[in-house]
Amino acid sequence: MEAHSVWAEIDLQAIAHNLGEIRRLVAPQTEIMAVVKADGYGHGALQVARTALEHGATRLAVARGDEALSLREAGIDAPILVFGGVPAGQLQRLIGYDLTFTIFSRTMAETLSAAALQAGRALSVHLKVDTGMGRLGFNRDPLALDDRPERRIQREILAVAAMPGLELEGIYTHFASADASDKTFAHWQFRLFMELLEMLSRDGLHFPLRHAANSAAILDLPDAHLDLVRAGIMLYGLSPTSDRGRPDIDLRPAMQFKTRISQIKEVPAGFPVSYGSSYRTMQSTRLATVSVGYADGLNRLLSSRVNMLVKGVRVPVVGRICMDQSVLDVGAVPGVRCGDEVVVFGRQGAAELPVGELAALLDTINYEIVSTLTARVPRIYP
Ligand code: PLP
Repeated sequence: MEAHSVWAEIDLQAIAHNLGEIRRLVAPQTEIMAVVKADGYGHGALQVARTALEHGATRLAVARGDEALSLREAGIDAPILVFGGVPAGQLQRLIGYDLTFTIFSRTMAETLSAAALQAGRALSVHLKVDTGMGRLGFNRDPLALDDRPERRIQREILAVAAMPGLELEGIYTHFASADASDKTFAHWQFRLFMELLEMLSRDGLHFPLRHAANSAAILDLPDAHLDLVRAGIMLYGLSPTSDRGRPDIDLRPAMQFKTRISQIKEVPAGFPVSYGSSYRTMQSTRLATVSVGYADGLNRLLSSRVNMLVKGVRVPVVGRICMDQSVLDVGAVPGVRCGDEVVVFGRQGAAELPVGELAALLDTINYEIVSTLTARVPRIYP
């Protein structure tokens, strides 16, 4: 393996294993859609897509048209659902690629219908219903303030169903808080969704693929699995909740973030470290400069707060994280050498530094940490 100064090591076998765990949770007839948006949550969309499709996923999902296009251009021919909006000006470029679009409004449906007619081909679409996420979707008012909310959404969906050039393959909704320990709102959203499906079926509208479940619902809301589950974070071996989640499910984190020591120096007590000299050594020690900085995705707010692993030992980052470098105090670890591998998150020997630990320090979620490693960090598939 070529030596890099910073890299993300992606274990595709872990992804395959996690897919097996998802398969174990859902009924045999329920399809698994691998969510590979944001470059596969930072893991490499193409490699994750190939692995997932080889191990039982039948469909993929991305957020944007361009993401879908890259997968098609790389030879992926599985169905790809685009979750987000596609600007009308981009549609012409995308239309020949056999993608599945999300329709979340009548305007979007009209745009797609017109594009389909112009291209002389039917477009496969999934309708998105907003049952309480408050984001994209036809509104199924979660507060039910309107005395006949179902009439309005029913009218809109029936109007879309009548538009030429659209093939309604699916209908879906998204949970706002399936990851919360209190599932009341998720159950409520699900009930609204099922009621709507019931009403539409009385109007003769049936959808081959009804779906709602993200990772949290795959784990905790089996009723919501329906025809298809949309697996994101758990595919990457991470928990959708801040705790460990279900102990009976073995999720293996697929990404490790690593760097190397580029210099070691002996310094006296009181030695200033990095920009602003915000940190001074307490005693004489050894400092190691490592090749990872905020331009790689190591958030500067972690300065003097986070640890890394060197020789299987936790050592503190001292002073401010720079664009391309950070400094560790390795005084407590004997035998550290220039060129040694350093783990930002992942495992080293018996030690583990989970990505969730960085997320907690930043008051954010593991999703954000892995998906914001930047493009200059090579993804390595050992
Ligand atoms: N479905 C939709 C519509 C999403 O936007 C996402 C991701 O945010 C997912 C499914 C996957 O969610 P998770 O990563 O929690 O499994």
